[in-house]
Amino acid sequence: MRRKLVEAAQAAREGAYAPYSGFTVGAAVEASSGAIYSGCNVENASYGLTICAERMAVFKAVSAGEREITALAVVSGPGVTPCGACRQVLAEFAPRPEEVTIVVVSGQGEERCYTLGELLPASFSGEELGLLSHGMVGHEREVEEGV
Ligand SMILES: [Zn+2]
Repeated sequence: MRRKLVEAAQAAREGAYAPYSGFTVGAAVEASSGAIYSGCNVENASYGLTICAERMAVFKAVSAGEREITALAVVSGPGVTPCGACRQVLAEFAPRPEEVTIVVVSGQGEERCYTLGELLPASFSGEELGLLSHGMVGHEREVEEGV
């Protein structure tokens, strides 16, 4: 599965739109269903509107109905870890961050492995708001499935 995830991220990088930085990134996430969703960075002349490859992949997964991310692969020239914003977005859909594998891949194919728990320790979540817990997300699923 890890090989497939890395290959999806490498393929997604081909679609990156990075005319300003020239820094192309591809990402792919594996959801708890086993499905893989990929994304690339898309820049904008209004720089702040740029979206990272990792968040695009997560949002595509969520828009397809997924609610739990189990792994991420991200490919870039030097092989960089996800930015803070992307780590936070991943945490929203990672009830067990210490079990979420993050594979960082360079353009030359060198790989480093982390977990989301390592990259975003003591993270903030909906549980702190008292409004959403991963348990409630599970409850939604039970209601939909009639459990
Ligand atoms: Zn990011």
